[in-house]
Amino acid sequence: MSPQAELQENVGLTKLNTLCVSATARYYMDVASLNDLRSALAWARDNGHKILVLGSGSNLVFAGNFDGLVIRMQIAARSWEQVDDKGATLVLGAGENWHDAVLYAARAGYRGIENLALIPGTAGAAPVQNIGAYGVELCDTLISVTALDRESNELLCLENAECGFAYRDSLFKRWPGRYIITGIRLRLSRTKPLQLGYRDLEDYLGDTVSQQLDVLTVAEAVMAIRRRKLPDPEMIPNAGSFFKNPVVPAEHFRELHAAHPDVVGYPQNGTVKLAAAWLIDQSGWKGYRNARVGVHNRQALVLINHSGGTGRDVLELASEIRQSVQERFGVNLEMEPGIVGG
Ligand SMILES: Cc1cc2nc3c(=O)[nH]c(=O)nc-3n(C[C@H](O)[C@H](O)[C@H](O)COP(=O)(O)OP(=O)(O)OC[C@H]3O[C@@H](n4cnc5c(N)ncnc54)[C@H](O)[C@@H]3O)c2cc1C
Repeated sequence: MSPQAELQENVGLTKLNTLCVSATARYYMDVASLNDLRSALAWARDNGHKILVLGSGSNLVFAGNFDGLVIRMQIAARSWEQVDDKGATLVLGAGENWHDAVLYAARAGYRGIENLALIPGTAGAAPVQNIGAYGVELCDTLISVTALDRESNELLCLENAECGFAYRDSLFKRWPGRYIITGIRLRLSRTKPLQLGYRDLEDYLGDTVSQQLDVLTVAEAVMAIRRRKLPDPEMIPNAGSFFKNPVVPAEHFRELHAAHPDVVGYPQNGTVKLAAAWLIDQSGWKGYRNARVGVHNRQALVLINHSGGTGRDVLELASEIRQSVQERFGVNLEMEPGIVGG
């Protein structure tokens, strides 16, 4: 076992989740290798404890303490494989910081994940909700995921098509706790066109001709846009977008449009994806705050822990928002972060 893989008891998790809500792990272990992971799982099994795999805690709400073993994923590894004139495969350990990996690839001139710059979290958590931003999703470049299957205790290599990727969804999210991701492989390109079609990005880059842009410039543009629009969790604790953009049947959208002509929707395969931020804003929540928690004043999708809020405070606010959007528009908002503990 690596030196840091020592079992600790009653470990505070407040600094290990970006909402900064207070919670304690009954048991806790940093895991920096496959051996550490196997030992942690064996200990939890032998002692009858449930487990939680924790990355950077940027997509979780602790509703209370976790009465089991928190396994903090720290497997570090970064390398290139199958390098040729057209591209290369980036191999990442699950504990690698995602944004650092994006910049590492962009600085080396490889394209494919630059639009996903500045998304907090670890590489191992990225497939769980198939992270996406500015018109790109992880599944666009992901070749395979290496994961320990807790049912068979085998280390599997799951190809992209086996991961069940969908909008902010995957096999790993639908089957929580079964697969523990230890690494991912991404196919990046030197030649593919940059993805500049997303409106914010188009507006930011203005008249710059796409042939004149390099991949690092696009990553930096994405970072600048995000810094302008989203609160930095280091300064203002939050968990990013709290709700998924809901998808409704075209007929429902027509009715909504008749009643609210400025409703924001993006048609896709006979359905329409609505902008959850617009629905929340129109329901009067943007900038709302009570003594502890609130809604960001520039991005209605982001719930904020202003001052000592608990996970329950955040979830209560989320529930009130969902209810008012349901009453006003007849649309169900689904939460993006997972709820743990309590
Ligand atoms: C300011 C901000 C902006 C954000 N912007 C975006 C965005 O633009 N797009 C987007 O898609 N998301 C966004 N997010 C959400 C979040 O960053 C991503 O979901 C990220 O991938 C979570 O990584 P994490 O390491 O923090 O995971 P955690 O929050 O620690 O864990 C999330 C889930 O994944 C599981 N998990 C973690 N690691 C593993 C593993 N190795 N194996 C199996 N399961 C695992 C956990 O058990 C948990 O269920 C944002 C969050 C914040 C705070």
